[in-house]
Amino acid sequence: MRLDESLVLNNGIKMPVLGLGVYKSGENTKQAVLDALEAGYRHIDVASVYGNENEVGQAIRESGIPREEIFVTTKLWNDDMRAGIQKEAFEKSLERLQMDYVDLYLLHWPVAEHYLPSWHILENLNREGRAKSIGVSNFQMGHLMDLMAHATVVPVVNQIECHPYLSQQPLCSFCRKTGIQVTAWAPLGRAKVFEDAVIKGLAEKYGQTPAQVILRWELQRGIIVIPKSVHRERIIENSKIFDFELVPEDMAVMDGLNKDQRFGPSPDTFDF
Ligand code: NAD
Repeated sequence: MRLDESLVLNNGIKMPVLGLGVYKSGENTKQAVLDALEAGYRHIDVASVYGNENEVGQAIRESGIPREEIFVTTKLWNDDMRAGIQKEAFEKSLERLQMDYVDLYLLHWPVAEHYLPSWHILENLNREGRAKSIGVSNFQMGHLMDLMAHATVVPVVNQIECHPYLSQQPLCSFCRKTGIQVTAWAPLGRAKVFEDAVIKGLAEKYGQTPAQVILRWELQRGIIVIPKSVHRERIIENSKIFDFELVPEDMAVMDGLNKDQRFGPSPDTFDF
């Protein structure tokens, strides 16, 4: 696998398996995206609520890399679903990104009573070609079943919290069966799992860092990863995951670390 390795989504479009996340990257966003693109990343994960779509757009333009070579994901925020201003919110995201399309537009959270009507609006944006692909985030199995019972377009992606302490095996299997690609947010467990003795041991065994072992484990599970960092050396470190492979026994060891432990809010109880 190479750094710009892609998986094919259920609509035939390719999505790079490694992206840079920019949640809370703040004033460092532009430089982080430039560093990532220089390191070979071709996929950036942003959201309107992160407040830095502008900087992402600026960095992509300044990089000189053709727009079509970079996969950009952004997301429709919860309040915009509730307010019924989905279309306007999408236009504003495009304006801030200074782009005429996004590669992937996601419903950020399964806002009760609002995710279905919002999905139909995304389906229209998809038909118009301005959201090349559409998907969801933080959807549990029940949300996905409900959505698919009413949708004409099956989501290409479900972006969920996923790391060694929250392996999400049942949801991942369900997504695989229904043709929905899983993307892991907080793939590094927000840096709270690096001290795990098992992960440290595997890092030593493979001559890699804990972050690299974790990301490699996710990739070998067929999951797309979007680790966040604003530090050039870590951005590069997180991209060096294509030249080693965990053997099946070590994959099983990593699978065994699951404790169903979330570092972020639960999709069943979130209140924002
Ligand atoms: P993450 O697991 O990517 O952890 C990020 C933290 O890990 C950074 O703050 C940094 O301190 C540390 N880190 C990164 N690389 C490291 C390295 N090599 N060595 C040591 N420390 C390192 O957590 P995240 O930022 O929450 O998630 C990643 C991305 O997922 C976000 O930036 C965002 O794009 C997306 N996200 C989506 C949702 C959603 O609801 N869809 C929610 C949260 C995040």
